[in-house]
Amino acid sequence: MRKKRIALLGSTGSIGINTLDVIARFPDRFEVVLLTAFNNVDLLKEQIRRFKPGRVALAKKHISLMASCFGSSIKFFDVETEIIPLVAEKSVDIVVLAMTGSAALDPFLSAVRCGKIVATANKEALVIAGEILIKEARKSGSLILPVDSEQSAIFQALQGHRREDLKCVHLTASGGPLLRVPASKHCRLRAMDVLKHPRWKMGPKISVDSATLMNKGFEVIEAQRLFSLQNDQIKVLIHPEAIVHSLVEYADGSIIAQLSETDMRIPIQYALTFPERQATGLKGLDLTAYRTLTFEAPDLVKFPALALALDVSRQGGTLPAVLNAADEIAVNAFLTEKLSFVGIYQVVEQTILMHKNKGSVSLRNIKDADVWARETALALVTKIPD
Ligand code: MG
Repeated sequence: MRKKRIALLGSTGSIGINTLDVIARFPDRFEVVLLTAFNNVDLLKEQIRRFKPGRVALAKKHISLMASCFGSSIKFFDVETEIIPLVAEKSVDIVVLAMTGSAALDPFLSAVRCGKIVATANKEALVIAGEILIKEARKSGSLILPVDSEQSAIFQALQGHRREDLKCVHLTASGGPLLRVPASKHCRLRAMDVLKHPRWKMGPKISVDSATLMNKGFEVIEAQRLFSLQNDQIKVLIHPEAIVHSLVEYADGSIIAQLSETDMRIPIQYALTFPERQATGLKGLDLTAYRTLTFEAPDLVKFPALALALDVSRQGGTLPAVLNAADEIAVNAFLTEKLSFVGIYQVVEQTILMHKNKGSVSLRNIKDADVWARETALALVTKIPD
């Protein structure tokens, strides 16, 4: 079997590190041909020594130092301007999108147009431009495989069933760190209070989005796009144990769920080895240790960001791009103590209300909406009182 050649975008983040962990377990199956990162040069150096990619992209200011460190055996590129042709190279079989943010959109589109297999942990690109990405993938025959635990669970529960028999999807949410914290206490929350997620270890942006449940709202939109679902076919289900990663309900009332440990290496590995399954080296799920698994409906009054995102998912157009951009600005303002926790929702909601939705989705419209939303949200941050 020829080795699958992997381009890993965002190798120094938590998904990137876990992806390399999976790759390292299968030296006969996978080969890393491209790594990209931004500023974490120390970790990147270690990864280069270990995985020996021929190409590496990172922030321009670090390139000369890295080149002097590794010599001519590795080619270095500017991650901000030179990444698009790199993912399109013939020498790439699988593109893993482990980077966060809407910067993933252009390389995602490039990979899809070239018919690559794309394993994506990135939500933003699918949220803002999912319709375009899916349409391009159909045209080129590109396979988009989800890495996000919930989307992977849905994908797995769809295998072997007829699409026309699908009734709906139950997208599970652990509920985040504020599930049992009363709404009256939300206004006093600081960054450090919401950066500790009970089930998953994640970066700061997604940890805040998990606390507001905006992350789940993004996942609803992502699932809508990935699996071509109507918005009334996706239901959010709070499941604090985070063992059932999502469920698919069929016409006869049967529900197929995917359960596993809360370890991102499991959905990452499934995406890389699909349609095969291989041993992970993890200890596996001991169901007797849990005794009970609980489920409840989300509280849309206590978590208005989820209600807002569900509304945006129904309206579509350029609104998902606005939701994503405004949330990024608002969360960043919260993390840098320029905005209160409840201010995040206020900034995002007001930006959404001010937006003139363009029903037709083109890359131009999406990029314009993104720029407009960032400027609008940034101006709102200074106006919202503490
Ligand atoms: Mg998730």
